[in-house]
Amino acid sequence: MARKSRLGFILLPIFALATGSTALADGETSPARDPRQPVDEAYTAKIRKYTTAPYFSSPLVDYLPASKTVPTPEVVLGDVAGAPGILPYAEDVYKYMRLLEKATPRVKVVSIGTTEEGREMIAVAVSSEANLKNLEQNRQRLAKLADPRTIHLDDAEADKLVAESVPVYYITGTIHSPETGAPTALMELAYRLAVDESPYVREIRDGVITLITPVVEVDGRDRMVDLYKWHLAHPKDFYPPLIYWGKYVAHDNNRDAMGMTLKLTQNVLNTYLSWNAQVLHDLHESVPYLYDNTVGDGPYNAWVDPILVDEWQMIGARNVADMTRFGMPGVFTHGDFDTWSPGYLMFLAAMHNGISRLYETFGNGGADTRERTLQPDEYARTWYRPNPPFAKALWSQRNNNNYEQTGLLTSLHYFNENKRLFLKNFYLKGKRSIQKPSAEGPAAYVLPADDPRASVQADLLRIMLRQHVEISRATSAFQVALPVKKEKKSTKAAETEEKPKPPSPTTRDFPAGSYVIRMDQPYSRVADALLDYQYWSPEDPQTTPYDDTAWTFGELFGVQVARVTDSKVLSVPMERVTALSPFGGLKGEGAIFAIDNHAEPALASLRYRLKEASIEAVEEPFQSGDHKFLRGTFLIRGVSRSDLDAAAKSIDLHAVALAAAPGVKTHPVRAARIAYVHTWISTQSEGWWRLALDNLQIPYDYMSTQAIAKIPDLNAKYDVILFPPVTGNTSHNAIVQGTPTTWGNPLPWMNTPETPNLVGKNDSTPDMRPGLGWDGLAKLQSFVRNGGVLLTALDTSQFAITSGLANGVSSTNSEKMKIVGSIVGTRLVDAASPIAYGYDEKVSAYCDDGPIFSVTSILGARRRHLGPEMKTRPTGRGTKDDPDFVIGRPASEVPDEPEKELWEAPQPTDEQSFNNPRVIPPANRARVILRYADSKDLLISGLVENGNEIAQHPAVLDVPSGSGHVVLFSINPVYRGETENTYSLVLNTLLNFDSLNAGRKDADQK
Ligand SMILES: [Zn+2]
Repeated sequence: MARKSRLGFILLPIFALATGSTALADGETSPARDPRQPVDEAYTAKIRKYTTAPYFSSPLVDYLPASKTVPTPEVVLGDVAGAPGILPYAEDVYKYMRLLEKATPRVKVVSIGTTEEGREMIAVAVSSEANLKNLEQNRQRLAKLADPRTIHLDDAEADKLVAESVPVYYITGTIHSPETGAPTALMELAYRLAVDESPYVREIRDGVITLITPVVEVDGRDRMVDLYKWHLAHPKDFYPPLIYWGKYVAHDNNRDAMGMTLKLTQNVLNTYLSWNAQVLHDLHESVPYLYDNTVGDGPYNAWVDPILVDEWQMIGARNVADMTRFGMPGVFTHGDFDTWSPGYLMFLAAMHNGISRLYETFGNGGADTRERTLQPDEYARTWYRPNPPFAKALWSQRNNNNYEQTGLLTSLHYFNENKRLFLKNFYLKGKRSIQKPSAEGPAAYVLPADDPRASVQADLLRIMLRQHVEISRATSAFQVALPVKKEKKSTKAAETEEKPKPPSPTTRDFPAGSYVIRMDQPYSRVADALLDYQYWSPEDPQTTPYDDTAWTFGELFGVQVARVTDSKVLSVPMERVTALSPFGGLKGEGAIFAIDNHAEPALASLRYRLKEASIEAVEEPFQSGDHKFLRGTFLIRGVSRSDLDAAAKSIDLHAVALAAAPGVKTHPVRAARIAYVHTWISTQSEGWWRLALDNLQIPYDYMSTQAIAKIPDLNAKYDVILFPPVTGNTSHNAIVQGTPTTWGNPLPWMNTPETPNLVGKNDSTPDMRPGLGWDGLAKLQSFVRNGGVLLTALDTSQFAITSGLANGVSSTNSEKMKIVGSIVGTRLVDAASPIAYGYDEKVSAYCDDGPIFSVTSILGARRRHLGPEMKTRPTGRGTKDDPDFVIGRPASEVPDEPEKELWEAPQPTDEQSFNNPRVIPPANRARVILRYADSKDLLISGLVENGNEIAQHPAVLDVPSGSGHVVLFSINPVYRGETENTYSLVLNTLLNFDSLNAGRKDADQK
C-alpha cells in the first residue's frame, strides 16, 4: 500500500498542471461549490432541515446553486427533492424535466417509448450547450467506437475518435417501484448538472453527457405514489402492499435483460445503444446506506470482458473512497451480490461492451422520515465495510437523495477524469467481441434450417434481434468440423467394464437457410452468453447464488443451437437477416389439413384463433407420403384453405393438406374456457404466465382466489382453472386463509380519489386480506370432481396435494439439494398422454428446488423404502447370489419385492390390499407424464448439488379426481419469457382438457 501512494505523490503534481483547474495540492478539483455563485438560500435551508444528521450529506449536495432562469424541483414538487411526504408521479417528474429543457440549452428531453399500459418513458440528456448542439456528430463518432468494424479495427483511428468524443453516462431510476427515492434525486441532479458553476460540476457538464431515465417502471411508480397518498390520508392504518408493479411482473422486471420480454427493458436497451452510452447505472434501494454492488462478490459472469471487471473495481473503489472522505458512513462495494446472471437491467450494458453499475441505497419505501433499526449483519464492521451504517438512525428520503446524488456526482466526475481510458476500453471491448472467433471462440452459433420447431426457433431469434445481435442466413448448405473431444483417462477398473464407444462424428452438415449468428460482431458477447452452457460448481465458495445459475436458451426453448468453433463457418455464403420474414402456411392438395405436433406453443394460438374450425388430435403417430406425423398432430376441418393459410402464416406454422384422414384414433382439440387464478399475496410468478398467454393470444378470465370462491357453478363457466405458482413456497395456510382479518384494517386495492392508478388493467378488491377460504377450497374440489381440470405448479401443487385434491401424491421439500434456477433433464414417461404431445423423450426444464413428488397406490401411504443398500441380500450363508437359510427348518422362498421405478406407484402387496378401501384403483392413480432424469443426467446447465433427492421423481403428474383432473408441476414450465420449451405442457392440458385420459394404459384395469 505504501508504495502505491508514494507513486501517486510523484505523478499527481504533473496531472494538476495538465488540468489547469482550481486544483488542490494533490491535483484534484475541489468537490465544493463556487463561492461566486449565489445559493438558493430557502431551498438550501430545507435540504439541511430534512437531512437528519450532517454526515448523511456531502459538500456536493448540501446546498443548491441559485439560478435566475432555471426552475428548481420545488416548482413542481412544492418542496425540495427528498422532502418528507412528497412522492411525485412520473408525469410530474417529466413536467419538471421539460421545464428544465425549456429553461436551459443544457437539457434535452426525449421520449423513449411506452409501457405495457401506455405510459410514456423518457430520457433526459444534460450536458454543456456545445455538447448538446453537437450531439449528432458526437453520436456518429461514438457509433464508430461501438462498432470497430467501421474503422477496420484501426487502433490509431480509434485513438483519434476517443480524443474527440464526449462519453455518455446513462442513469436509470426506480425500476423497483417500492424503492422510491430516485426520481426526486434525479430531478435535483439534472438541475445541478445544468446550473452549478463550481469547477467540479462544470467539468462533468463539459466532459460528459449525462443521460437520465428518472422512472423506468412507470406503471408501477404511479401505483406506488397512489399507495403512498392513501397512506398519508390514513396515517394510522396499515396501507396495502404494492401487489402489482407493471402490468405483468413486479421485482422480476429487473430480471428481463435476457428474455427482453418487457417494454421497459426494450426501451432502455434501445436508448442505451442508440446513444452509444458507455455506462448503464441503475438505482435501487434496500441496503444501508450505499452499496455499490457492481463489485459485489463472485462468481462473476463468465462472458464479460476482464476489462469490464477492472472498470467495476476502479469506479467502485473510487466511489467508496470519495464518499468515505466526505465522512458519509455505510458506503461500500463488496457484499453478497454475485455477478453471475446477466438478467439484471444494468447487465444490458455489461453484455453490450459497456459498464454496468448498480447502487443499493437506503430507502423508507415512501417519503416518511423514520427511525430505522438495522439487522446485526447490516451494521457489522467487515473488512470491506470499515465504516458501517449505524445500528439505529433517523432516516429520511432526503438522506437517500443525498447519498444517491453524491454517489452519482463523484462517479460522473471520476468517469470524466478518466474518460479517455473508458472510451478506449469501450472500443477495445467491442474490438475483442469482433475478434472472438480467432481468440477464445466460438466462431458462430448455428440454428439449423430443418429444426422441427420452427416457430420456437423464430421466437428465440427475435429475442436475439431485440438484443441487437446480427443474424445471418446461409444461402447454401455447408459443413463444419466438430471439435475433437479429449478422452478422459479412465481408471483400470472402469476400463475393463467399459464397452468400446462408437467413433464420434467429426463433421456436421447444415442445410441451406440455416441461421448463423456470427461471433465476429460487436454484440457477439450477449449471443454467446445466452446460447452457451453454464456450470456452477457445487464447491464454489459462493454458497448462496443471488439468482438463477443457468439460462442456456437453446435448452430452455427446446431448439437446436450448435456452438461451432470451426472458423470456416464464417466464409459460408450468407445474407443478413434484419427481421424474420413470415413463413409457414398451407401446402399440398386435399380436403383435410394437418399440422404436425412438435409442442410448439403456436398450436394453441391457432386453436383459439380458428374458433369455428373442427380440430382433432391424433392419438397415435401416422405416416403420410414421406412424412411421419407425431402423436397430437392437428387434423383440421371446417375452415377455408385461405383462412387456414393466413392463420398459419401469422404464427409461423406449417400446415399440409391430406387426401384423406389417417386411420388412427383421434379426439377433439377444444379451446378450453379458462379461469386464471391469482392470490392477493403475490403476483410475481403468475405474471410471467399471464404474459405468455397474452402473447399467444389465449383468452382467460383473470380472477383472485377471493373471486373464484364466489362463483356459484364453476363447471358451467369454465373447463380449466389455471392456478400458477404464487411465490414458489407459499404455504397452504396462506393461500386458504390469506392475511389475518381478526385485527388491522381492510387493505383495499381499488381506484379511489387518492388512488386513481392503482387497478390499471389488472384486478381489484375492497380488502386484499382474505384468501381462498374454505368455501373456495370446496368449490375447487367440486369443480374437479365434476369434470374440471385444475392446473397447478410448485406451491399451488403443494396446496392441491395438502388439500386432498390430488390423491395418491405426496410432496416434500428437499433437505440438502441445491438446484438454484438451473436447467435439468427430464424424461417422458407416458408419451401417449395428451399433455406430452409433441415432446421427445428428453425434455430440458427450468427447476428451482422444485417440490419432490412421490406417487403411491394406497391413500396416505409412504413408499416402501428399500434404499439402494437393500438391493443385495442380507448377511448370511453362501455366496452373493445364494439363498440364505435358517438352521432347523425347511427353506422358504422370499417373495420378490414389487419392482417399480422411483417415479412409479408401487403395486400394493397382498398384505396391503387385504380388506383395504384405501388402495387406489389403477384408473384413479396418478399418471406420471414426465420424471426427473437419473442423478447423473440431471444437470444440463447451472448448479445441481445433491440432485439425487429429486432424481427420477415425477416432474409432471396428471391425477384423476372424480371425473376431473389435477395436473401438478414440480418444474416451473412458464418462467421469465425464457422457457418456451415447456409452455406446451401447460397448453396441451388446456387443449385436451376433456381427453386427458387418452392413451392411458391402466384406465380399464381393476
Ligand atoms: Zn431494487
